[in-house]
Amino acid sequence: MKTVRTISELRQSIDYNKRVGFVPTMGNLHAGHLDLISTAKAQSQLVVASIFVNRLQFGPHEDFDSYPRTFFEDTRKLEASGCDVLFAPGEEDLYPVPQGFEVSPPDNLAGILEGEFRPGFFKGVCTIVLKLFNCVQPNVAFFGRKDYQQAMIVDHMVNQFALPVDIVKVPTRREVDGLAMSSRNGYLNDAERADAVQLYLVLCQMRESFKAGHNISTVEEEAKHHLQSRGWKPDYLTIRSALDLSPLSVIQKEGNPPPGCWIALGAARIGKTRLIDNLEFNVN
Ligand code: AMP
Repeated sequence: MKTVRTISELRQSIDYNKRVGFVPTMGNLHAGHLDLISTAKAQSQLVVASIFVNRLQFGPHEDFDSYPRTFFEDTRKLEASGCDVLFAPGEEDLYPVPQGFEVSPPDNLAGILEGEFRPGFFKGVCTIVLKLFNCVQPNVAFFGRKDYQQAMIVDHMVNQFALPVDIVKVPTRREVDGLAMSSRNGYLNDAERADAVQLYLVLCQMRESFKAGHNISTVEEEAKHHLQSRGWKPDYLTIRSALDLSPLSVIQKEGNPPPGCWIALGAARIGKTRLIDNLEFNVN
């Protein structure tokens, strides 16, 4: 694996006769990230990963400074997973002048759910993803379904700007108990780690209750109370259309779950750590 820091070194290291697959990350890599690498390996001829903790997508009171940086372990994991090129720019390489041009995603996609609780987050994400796409010029890029709204917004950005990149969405990798893997799980103490799976369990409960035909607002309220009773602070727990994350628009009849592709999504704080997760399901 070749590790490069600057945009010009990066472009010189890529053989553009090959189908180039790209996996953007913020590092502190776990098995979920490595699933993206192995999917990229299977679907392209040259795999480029990036590690860059993107200041633009962090709010003023968020964890930019304390975000875990584990560069040497990360390079070993990437090498072992068959990554060909690691792009690890410094801020001075990617933002030599302040990034005055930004990509502003529309409110109907980016002002809801994560966007409601993390204002500016998706603007930061879209800006860095577009910039990284321009640096790497991949044929295909891989994103995790763990960050479902993010992958959906990137998909829309690629379509609306006619970017020549295919987007592939990779399933969420979980710990044995069901907790979605995340770099932020490292912030949890032992007691919090033991309880962290409750977010996933409550999403499973929401799915079952919705499938049983219970009213969506009852489903959401019960989920909220469940987590609150254990000391969590939920931002949102909701069921949306998996196609566009819009809320349910039909009048529900008790006992008759509406057919379609649905997704239960949640974000909640346990102690000082904010976790997110989601669960896709169909109703026939
Ligand atoms: P991050 O380093 O957190 O920005 O994540 C980089 C990429 O890895 C994003 O596309 C994430 O959606 C994806 N990712 C993070 N956690 C997981 C997971 N548990 N399973 C699959 N993909 C993941």
